[in-house]
Amino acid sequence: MNHIVVQACTSCGAPRHAHRVCMSCGKYGDEQIIVKEAAAE
Ligand SMILES: [Zn+2]
Repeated sequence: MNHIVVQACTSCGAPRHAHRVCMSCGKYGDEQIIVKEAAAE
């Protein structure tokens, strides 16, 4: 049982791993985990 479960992010719809923070919008469930800064690069 080591397959990766991918679900669509409920916030932005991007595919993300279950039980992981969405790397697209930074949300996990209803919490904003990663706050992107404008012009990070
Ligand atoms: Zn997302």
